[in-house]
Amino acid sequence: MDLSGKRVAILGAGRSGRAAANLARCYGGEVTVYDAGPAEVFLGMRESIRCHPLATEETGKGCNADIVIISPGIETGGGFARSFYEDAGEFIGETEFASRYYNGLVIGITGTNGKTTTTELVQRMIEAGGKSCEACGNYGRPLSDVVIEEDQPDAVSLELSSFQLETVRTFRPDVAVWLNFSPDHMDRYRSVEEYRGAKQRIFENQQESDTAVIRYGEEVGEVTANRITFSATDSRADYALSEATVIYQEDRILDLGATRLRGLHNAENVMAALAAVRAVNVQVEAAAEVFSEYAPPLHRCELIRILDGVEYINDSKATNLHALEAALVSQARPSILIAGGKEKGLDYTPLLPVLEKRVNKVVAFGEIGPRLADVFAPVVETVVAATLGDAVQLARDASTRGGTVLFSPGTSSFDMFSGYEERGDAFRSIVLALK
Ligand code: ADP
Repeated sequence: MDLSGKRVAILGAGRSGRAAANLARCYGGEVTVYDAGPAEVFLGMRESIRCHPLATEETGKGCNADIVIISPGIETGGGFARSFYEDAGEFIGETEFASRYYNGLVIGITGTNGKTTTTELVQRMIEAGGKSCEACGNYGRPLSDVVIEEDQPDAVSLELSSFQLETVRTFRPDVAVWLNFSPDHMDRYRSVEEYRGAKQRIFENQQESDTAVIRYGEEVGEVTANRITFSATDSRADYALSEATVIYQEDRILDLGATRLRGLHNAENVMAALAAVRAVNVQVEAAAEVFSEYAPPLHRCELIRILDGVEYINDSKATNLHALEAALVSQARPSILIAGGKEKGLDYTPLLPVLEKRVNKVVAFGEIGPRLADVFAPVVETVVAATLGDAVQLARDASTRGGTVLFSPGTSSFDMFSGYEERGDAFRSIVLALK
């Protein structure tokens, strides 16, 4: 798509915005990047790209762009974005834009949890099957950075957040993976259905020759693509679990015991990844080594150490209750749970049955700490800690040999940290310093 003579407005000067700006320039567009931040946020931007710091709704009203491309961090329905696109020719997101410049295979992966693990597995399996594949999107580099290169990969394993899917117009993945769904991001969406609706757009442009890999029983709306289901708990799915073996219809596909992936949630990630790559003709035999070597990235149920017979597990990436629940369910040992962080407006009562069954004590911390302690108190002993250091100490005091201290916050970290990595690193340092 040649953009010569077209005015392209990019909203947001972060990684996605810069990548989209470079791509639009590369195809001849007259590109301006708008950001509400000061001039410093544009540091390092290419000279041929115009920069507009301190942008406001007023800026947007006079902009008259042919195409407006929004970064995922900016609210699609907010006044700032609207002021730019109300008079624009077209309004799309960075992923949609980049996908128009790519002709290879697209495996799109969405879900509330498990995206990163599945995206990595798919990328590795496709490579093992002999095709070049980059994991990108919400993971790694933005898609625009990948497609701008002359030597594009044969395939992309594309992690997609709901924010990226909100602005789909023509994006059509060859395989769309729906891992799971549970309420999240209630600070951005007005309702759970609005959040679900954004994610469902992954299927919107698929045709019958495409594949939709969907967790069995999920509510996903209309799907035209060929539907393949998976589930670790329901044997009616196409990919199901028998003991610890993944079964496809009658065939035994993979023994999970030979992998380093633990818990039913990881079994589902494996199934989804297998279904996705088999749909594009990758032989599982070629990928067997991938499974024996692969371990999930840090901060996802990461075992830090065993001290006085107690396992300390860092699951800082659990930023919603569904991930927290998955971590609890995969613990075989009695747990002391450390949870808390930013108040995101989620309802935590669905966790009560699993807490009652699996947790001896909850140490709550952060902005949401006092509310969590109140909500959980009817089924489990709770205590509120002022800092993460205090929380670890309280959890240690309450733990017994053969048990687990599980740090699975169940909400995001932005009340005290810059992100889940910093929060997980802080937990790891505190635990490693315990004597
Ligand atoms: P995402 O990229 O979607 O955030 P990750 O693979 O980074 O997914 O995992 C995020 C969190 O969710 C971690 O705490 C992890 O242990 C948990 N998790 C991973 N896969 C699943 C799943 N299929 N269902 C529920 N929780 C999961």
